[in-house]
Amino acid sequence: MPDHFIIQLIGLENKNVQFIEHSIEKDTCHIHIQLKRKKHACPHCQTRTNRIKDYRTHSFQHLKIAEKRVYIHYRKRRYHCPCGKAFDEKNQGIVTRYQRFSTAWHQAALFHSINSASFTYTAKAYGTTASKIIRLFDARMDAFSTPPATLPKIIAIDEFKGDTNKGKFQLIIADPVTRRPIDILENRSIKTIQRYLRERGQQVEIVIMDLSSAFKSAVQKALDSPLIIADSFHFSRYIYWALTKVRIRVQQKFHDYDRKRCKRMKGLFYKRKHELTSEQWTLVQRYLELDSDLQTAYDIKEAYQAWFNTHKAQERTNVRHALHQFYELVRQANIPEFIAAIGTFQRWETEIINAFIYPHLSNGFVEGINNRTKVLKRGAYGFQCFERFRAKILAQHFIKDFDISVG
Ligand SMILES: [Zn+2]
Repeated sequence: MPDHFIIQLIGLENKNVQFIEHSIEKDTCHIHIQLKRKKHACPHCQTRTNRIKDYRTHSFQHLKIAEKRVYIHYRKRRYHCPCGKAFDEKNQGIVTRYQRFSTAWHQAALFHSINSASFTYTAKAYGTTASKIIRLFDARMDAFSTPPATLPKIIAIDEFKGDTNKGKFQLIIADPVTRRPIDILENRSIKTIQRYLRERGQQVEIVIMDLSSAFKSAVQKALDSPLIIADSFHFSRYIYWALTKVRIRVQQKFHDYDRKRCKRMKGLFYKRKHELTSEQWTLVQRYLELDSDLQTAYDIKEAYQAWFNTHKAQERTNVRHALHQFYELVRQANIPEFIAAIGTFQRWETEIINAFIYPHLSNGFVEGINNRTKVLKRGAYGFQCFERFRAKILAQHFIKDFDISVG
């Protein structure tokens, strides 16, 4: 193998690197290098000199080549200045003093550790221990997890189960415009949210959230008359939950076979009637005919979906009036599960109507962020620590920009 090719393989071709020798073993590769001799300014007196004092070998690990771990043995030159001081030659950032890994290795391992699901995985890929990777990550954590001084005009908040040392649930604050996480709070308590929004929320005008009275109260206390939008996925769930509760209540009376089959059909009950195939509809119909409550529950759900879709898509003027007609339908049907659901709707009516006034604003994208976080939780090692967990979530989304430009 020609010398210059080896230097290129390890990515050091523009750094005045001179190849000395190399040896390749089964899993490792040893490369001996030195730098070209040249005049250096003495760091103590600025006198330029190329008088050599001695050499010391600095051995460190570098990026892998074809699954082989690469060790570089760098014959480090020391110069001797007429002023009497000795100093190391400059190595153009190949390696930092006392480091056992090259600068390029550090950069690549850090990037990998942010993107990968676990520190252990990065450690394996980069031939080191998980604790070394964690130290590398921790040392740079502040750079990508410093919270913004002020939040944007529109924010989305949602809880997720992070299971960190600060508790089971954490709160995510995200930007619906950039679709990025802005910050992660260690818990979802009114106090925590309120304190955070007081500090950084002066510009916030719109907040999107699920139907949590704690969130609503925190937001209202901390901000000056914010506009709250209830996320449509979260409020629609109350209708689907009511349908499910009715189905579960009703199917108790069915025979074993029908009960099990009915249970498995959850998704078919949720779908719009006109979206079902004729076989699917026949199946659904069979169960609706078995029980009048289930039939009524299904009709209410269809009426809800018709109201939702109509007003979400085009007609935004009569939302409230049409919603009141829906309440009336529910009251006449008098099914307790749905009466409870519209009770929730009434408490959140203003916020629900706002979802139709601003149809493009929702918390849907937060779901995507939370799914990514779940993957992170699975590779749990090192993530019980809240600060690290938070930094990793924020860094992953920051790094997406690089993925796009590289790919
Ligand atoms: Zn000097």
